[in-house]
Parts: sequence; structure tokens; C-alpha cells
Amino acid sequence: MDFDVTKHFGICYTLKCNVECPHCADACGPHRSERMDFNDIEFIIENAAVAGFKSIELYGGEPFLDFNRLSQMVRLCASWSIRPLIYTNGFWGKNGNSAKEKLGILKKCGLDAIGVSIDSHHQKNIPIDYPLNVLQITKELSINSFCVFCPSISTQDDKALLDRIGQVTEHITISQVFYEGRAKTGIIDSKPLRQLEPCQTLIRSSTVEGDIFACGSPLNSVKKKNILYLGNCRRDNIREALTNSNYYRLVSFFHDVDSDIYYKKISATKLDKEYRGICDFCLEAMIDQEVIDKLTLHNPQY
Ligand code: SF4
Ligand code: SF4
Repeated sequence: MDFDVTKHFGICYTLKCNVECPHCADACGPHRSERMDFNDIEFIIENAAVAGFKSIELYGGEPFLDFNRLSQMVRLCASWSIRPLIYTNGFWGKNGNSAKEKLGILKKCGLDAIGVSIDSHHQKNIPIDYPLNVLQITKELSINSFCVFCPSISTQDDKALLDRIGQVTEHITISQVFYEGRAKTGIIDSKPLRQLEPCQTLIRSSTVEGDIFACGSPLNSVKKKNILYLGNCRRDNIREALTNSNYYRLVSFFHDVDSDIYYKKISATKLDKEYRGICDFCLEAMIDQEVIDKLTLHNPQY
């Protein structure tokens, strides 16, 4: 799906999931009951539309566990001319007819695109045919779709899976494992900063508690103490949170190679230091007073 990340917003509205994947950084599962109040969802979508956001992704947990609520949210986004995107594990693709019916309803509600997680982590609990069915049906119904693939430590297994997915879709987005939640018990490779790609998920997002952050990384307890935290949708002024210039400072930090605050310039002395992914580096940088001072002084171009 083509969208401008600076005009895209993410809403994590439930932590309930039908499965417990070993790499789930939010530690979602059947026992989780946290869910965003629907009034808050309406409030965020309305304010995001007024603030100029053009697309919203809805995720969890597993959004399809409450299909009525999901349809309501998709309709609400569309009524504000916002393109809705849903992320799912595709468990509901077991029965092709019922999956087709669900997708038909969402299309009528205004669904723009759907991202389906398929990888060795998810497929420990969900037969691969279910999410593949979902991708197949989206093609039949002309709904934009793509697979979200999170690599494992076995490149051989990953290749076999990717070959299988490639028979259904050429649209595959590679995701990362965040060192948080259940993923903390797994193995995550470290790499020197110079080899790490810049943050690709700098998408302003809300948690189930209505906390708005500059990104959707699940490391919220750490993010709340630094400039990645933009405010709470109810306790703070939501328009200010949604347009907070700290977000644009972070865009320059990761993506503007000519900027004085580009991350590989600010952290030039750490290029050989090893991190468990770009978030590991970022969260260290965001509590480094020297980095914070430079970011805060920077005047965003947006
Ligand atoms: S990774 Fe996705 S499917 Fe797996 S437990 Fe977490 S929310 Fe559920
Ligand atoms: S913690 Fe930093 S690197 Fe990770 S998603 Fe957020 S902004 Fe990007």
C-alpha cells in the first residue's frame, strides 16, 4: 500500500488475540482484555482527519475477533475520507465462504488495504492455508493486500515460507522483531549501528490507553519518558499531540541525510557499537542528553 508515513496514523485498539505468538512484543493473547474505548477511537479518528492525516492502520491484538467493532471503525475512517488499513493474522480465513463474506462487508464499509501476517512465528499456531486464503480472496475482490513477514533465525525455513507466500502474492513487507514482551525470551541478532537500516516505522500511533507516540514500537514504558511520547488523547490537547514538532525532528533524525541531526552523524562515535535492532539504538539515543539537546534545538522543515 502506498501511503505517506507523515500523514499516516496507527491505532492499536485491542491487546486481545486468539493466539500467543512467541515473538509478540505486546504479549497479546486470549487472556488480554485491554481495549480502547470506542469514544476514544471516534475522537482520535475525527481529530486525525482534521489534522490532515490521510490513512489509518487498525491493529491489535487481533482486530477480527470483534468484527462488528472493526467494521464500525473502517466505516468511520472512510466517512472522514481517511483510507483504512487493517493488520490481521488471518485466522478467520479457515472457511473461504465466511472469509469472503467478511471481506465483502469491509470493502463496502470502505476498506482500502489489508496486511496479513505470515511467518514461522505466527504459523506455530495458525495453519498457513488460512492467511493465504485471505490473501487469495482479497485478489478476487480487488482489495489491496500484502503479507507482513517477520524473519526467524532459520534462513532456510524462511526461504521455504517466502516461496510459498510468493505463489499467492508478490507484495511482501519484511518486519522486525522488537526485543520486548515475549520476544525477550527469543534470540535476536545484534549488529553494528552502521549496518542497521533507519527506522521504517516512524508512524504516529495510539496505544489502547490513548497514549500517542511518534512510532508504533511496543516499548511504551521506555518511550513514555522521552520525546517519542506526544501526549494522551484525553488528558492532553490531542491536536497538539498529533502535530507535535518532535515527530518531524525524528523524521529528520532518521531520514534526512543532509541534516545536522541525522542519526549516523549525531551518533558517529557509536557506528561500531552493536544493537539488537534500530529501536535498541533509538531508545538509547532518546535518553542521551546531548542527542536530546540537538534534536530539541533543531527546527523542523515541515
Ligand atoms: S504477534 Fe499478532 S497474532 Fe501473534 S500474538 Fe501478537 S498480536 Fe496476536
Ligand atoms: S523506537 Fe525509534 S527506531 Fe523504534 S520504531 Fe520507534 S522511532 Fe523507530
